[in-house]
Amino acid sequence: VRACALPHLAGTLGLWRVSERRLASIRRRKLQRLLRHAYENVAFYRSLWERARVRPEEVDGPEDLVRLPVVSKEDLLSCRLEERLAQGIDPSACWSSSSSGTTGHPLTVYTLPADRTRMNLGWFRAYLANGLRVSETMAAFVGRRQVRTSQRWYERLGLFRRVEIPAWWSVEEWTAQLELLRPAAITGYVMTLRLLAEHLRDHPHHRVHPRLVFHTSALLDEASRRLFEEQLKCRVVDLYGSEEAGCIAWECPRCPGYHVNADLVVVEILRNGVPARTGEAGEVVVTNLHSYAMPIIRYRQNDVASLAATPPRCGWQFPLLERIEGRVEDFLVLRDGRRLPPHPFYHCIDPVPGVQRWRIVQDRPGEMTLEIVAEEEQSDAVRRAVLAGLAQLTGGAMDIALHLVPEIPIDPRTKFRTIRSAVGALAPAEEWGATAKGGK
Ligand SMILES: [Zn+2]
Repeated sequence: VRACALPHLAGTLGLWRVSERRLASIRRRKLQRLLRHAYENVAFYRSLWERARVRPEEVDGPEDLVRLPVVSKEDLLSCRLEERLAQGIDPSACWSSSSSGTTGHPLTVYTLPADRTRMNLGWFRAYLANGLRVSETMAAFVGRRQVRTSQRWYERLGLFRRVEIPAWWSVEEWTAQLELLRPAAITGYVMTLRLLAEHLRDHPHHRVHPRLVFHTSALLDEASRRLFEEQLKCRVVDLYGSEEAGCIAWECPRCPGYHVNADLVVVEILRNGVPARTGEAGEVVVTNLHSYAMPIIRYRQNDVASLAATPPRCGWQFPLLERIEGRVEDFLVLRDGRRLPPHPFYHCIDPVPGVQRWRIVQDRPGEMTLEIVAEEEQSDAVRRAVLAGLAQLTGGAMDIALHLVPEIPIDPRTKFRTIRSAVGALAPAEEWGATAKGGK
């Protein structure tokens, strides 16, 4: 993988020079190959497409994808792991990550190392296009407690150095680490960055001066964007991605909107199942062209966006999305008033084997109710593992009422929200359930 990754790196990062025609032919070729692979090797897609009476050869390019059924997270979860994994794939040899997003259903996504490298290029391209230099360091807030300390091969060459900071740490620890690292860029989730920016506002003598802030996942509301710009005194760039599809689209410094990484993903905007008109809002459905271990084909992101009417003006041939509406999140508030970002909660609960669906509701500081739908034979183990993780995360400053329930009802009038806090809401309560943007 390493030996052949360098030409890949150069090729993918250099794609802005390709013509529209060449990009279209790359997309068609990659799509046809992925569909053939999924049909031949993945039981889930084979039976899905056979039931729909459609064969992969009938899809010549992205415009024909409408012939295939749309797939939801629930569809993938409803089959056994070996049915959604390609034949001969060893999950332990894959890169894996879990995401429950707005649905409360954790789905573990498996990615081959070579695909992972390609998907990473989608993020790197967004960083470079926005002015980060390859030799500069980025600090990344992550939901995991254990951060990655090993360096990737390109980091050892002094490229794209990324240092992880656990969102579990206190905001004082974040600040100290950032002052030590002096990163050119910081990447994180809105709630984490919000806590950081508010802390820096209250401590004006800090030495945290990045040139760029990259925001990923969830909805970046205008008030938070302004707060980051004012307190960190730098440009704020919003990136749109998910565990399933990697970096889907990124804000361009010269165009209005987000460029779709069109050589890595196919994005469809659907309204009532058919492609929406330009400028018309619709649901985002993605196909990850580098998902060979567990193909992601016409996958419902649970987000809303529209295709921009204006062509790119920066030289990139990637089409533009405008107005991405995504997940709105809440803080969780501890007994002492301290607020925790929601992201580490996902990392505590999603990877626990046997967890099928969950949600957190908080009405008062220091108290929360966690409901989990678990596989019956694993319910005791789920309870123990989740409570142990949450005790570490909250440091005992939260009373947790954990209920194992047979199901979690969904109110069809509002969008399901995995974490909902009446005391830690950023958006006004009436905006709850209005919008969603995937990943986490
Ligand atoms: Zn542009």
